[in-house]
Amino acid sequence: MKNSSNNEVGELTAILKAGDFIQKAGISSVPVRLEQYLIKAGIKLIPDTRLKDTEAGRVIPLPDQTIIEVNSKHSIERQRFTVLHEIAHIILELPSKHTSITTTDSLYTYSKRPEEEILCDIFAAECLFPRQFFKPDVNQTEPCMDAVDDLAKQYQASLTATASRYAANTDELCASVLSENGIVRYVSMSKVLREKGFWVPIGMGVPKKTQLDKRLSGLGNEKFAEVPAYYWTNKDTFASRMLCEESILLSMWNQALSLLWFEDDIPQHQIQRSQYDEDDELLPELDGHLPWPGHGRRKL
Ligand SMILES: [Zn+2]
Repeated sequence: MKNSSNNEVGELTAILKAGDFIQKAGISSVPVRLEQYLIKAGIKLIPDTRLKDTEAGRVIPLPDQTIIEVNSKHSIERQRFTVLHEIAHIILELPSKHTSITTTDSLYTYSKRPEEEILCDIFAAECLFPRQFFKPDVNQTEPCMDAVDDLAKQYQASLTATASRYAANTDELCASVLSENGIVRYVSMSKVLREKGFWVPIGMGVPKKTQLDKRLSGLGNEKFAEVPAYYWTNKDTFASRMLCEESILLSMWNQALSLLWFEDDIPQHQIQRSQYDEDDELLPELDGHLPWPGHGRRKL
């Protein structure tokens, strides 16, 4: 997720509008039924077999009704995300930054995604994983890729989308990292981990010696490893900690997905004070991630 103050307002709006839309569509179970969203938005969905493999879908605004065409040759998981992304453009009133046909490249790769497109993804993800169902489901599991995989099947969503929402919703110290062509492109993390100051910079190369680095370099096939946390984050807080890392390679778009988590909580005395004083905690969160979380916000 990009982190700028402007974006944060946009994200919040997208999340609130999604929550409103989920309620008005009468979603009461998962996997969510797209029909309910389509009816609420007054949109007709037409599966299309003529779209090329590289084309995910398109919106056709007619005078009396809007039509969404989706590539019916794609997996159900991708079709569901494509449709919700297109609905997001309509509900959020954000014009597409892509061409009239949404290509898979513009929808599923991360190298140059305009802010509007990311906001539509956020809206789509909220609709696909309504938090009133997803958060309790997530918190019944221990972090691991198998848990993410099970939830992906349960919610009929892709592994990458599920991992991102998993990390954002869990009460564990957990992050998901999507890299593409060896560059970190998307990071999602739990509130408690963010409050500890953990941060993986977007745009950096896959850190050396991580399990993912080994796999990308052909030096190992193991998905899981415990690695020093400082491999992934340069925050001093974690200098002496070990981190669980489970990384898988996704051949499509040369992507890789990593789930990172701490087995044990981090004792308060191991957290080093940053340069911020307590008074500074009242400053606005310019990047959405204060270096010091304040006192007593959570169990330790
Ligand atoms: Zn779009």
